[in-house]
Amino acid sequence: MGAVIRTEGLGKTYRRGGTALRSLDLELSGGEAFGFLGPNGAGKSTAIHLLLDFIRPSEGAAFLSGEPASRSRARRRVGHVPETVRLPGYYTGWGLLEFQAGLAGLGRPERARRASRMLETVCLAHAAGRRLSGYSKGVLQRLALSQALIAEPDLLILDEPTFNLDPQVRKHVRDLLLEAKGRGATVFISSHILSEVEAVCDRVGILAKEVLRRVGTPTDLSAGGGSEIVVPELPATAIEALSMTGAQVVLNGRKATIACDGPDQEAEVRRVLEERGAAVDAVHARPQSLEEIFRREVGPEAGP
Ligand code: ADP
Repeated sequence: MGAVIRTEGLGKTYRRGGTALRSLDLELSGGEAFGFLGPNGAGKSTAIHLLLDFIRPSEGAAFLSGEPASRSRARRRVGHVPETVRLPGYYTGWGLLEFQAGLAGLGRPERARRASRMLETVCLAHAAGRRLSGYSKGVLQRLALSQALIAEPDLLILDEPTFNLDPQVRKHVRDLLLEAKGRGATVFISSHILSEVEAVCDRVGILAKEVLRRVGTPTDLSAGGGSEIVVPELPATAIEALSMTGAQVVLNGRKATIACDGPDQEAEVRRVLEERGAAVDAVHARPQSLEEIFRREVGPEAGP
């Protein structure tokens, strides 16, 4: 299968001023889950709104399964969970899903089968006949996801899902996403919560200040050059100078372990140590968490 999402230099500048997204080039294939990471204001929702043709780009183009995103046909096989979920309160959970499956052209028995199964999967079978107006926010989130998945879309787009759910339901949601992936769907999750994407995504991209900074598997990104320097006897005078480098220093008596987030920081730390006459015992490669990578790309002022 070709790319399910392809963007070529996609960008958006608003007429009243302000750039929301710059030259996004991205290609995602079937069966791939992608975590679109970035702090608030980075341009994640703008990218999603461009993919869904809610707004039009001022530069570049987006394609869904080879069709320009502006064609309604391109969106036929797309499921979407918006950042703010608003569902009509007069529906029951079961009614909403059955109706949604009907919109996808499914026959009555298949609609009923899918609606029941979906409610069971997200642990809502007991509340199937209750009106949505009486549901809690967490339940509505689960229903919004069920609604987006009921027609088994080729592309599922989740905009900042905050599944503040209990661990058991969280696992069911994760299983649903993995199941969608397993049948060949592309899952696109925008988030500033790293742990939510790390668990399901094959690749992640970090968007910061309207630009996609890095793309790779979580493992690729975490192997991005971090190191740990062990100093058996750190002179007290070096501590302040080291703190200026931004590296993390952990002291155990006079022994110091200094975590550096990349080659530049490591070089700076080595320079400080040399100036203070501190001998280095060992240097180890250190995998970085997505959290650290995110902070490095985005800057300390805009962490997740
Ligand atoms: P994110 O989803 O990553 O939080 P957004 O895509 O919502 O970011 O916003 C990216 C940038 O575009 C922000 O600086 C935001 O203020 C700006 N922006 C978003 N929508 C509009 C709009 N309709 N008009 C002008 N600027 C906008």
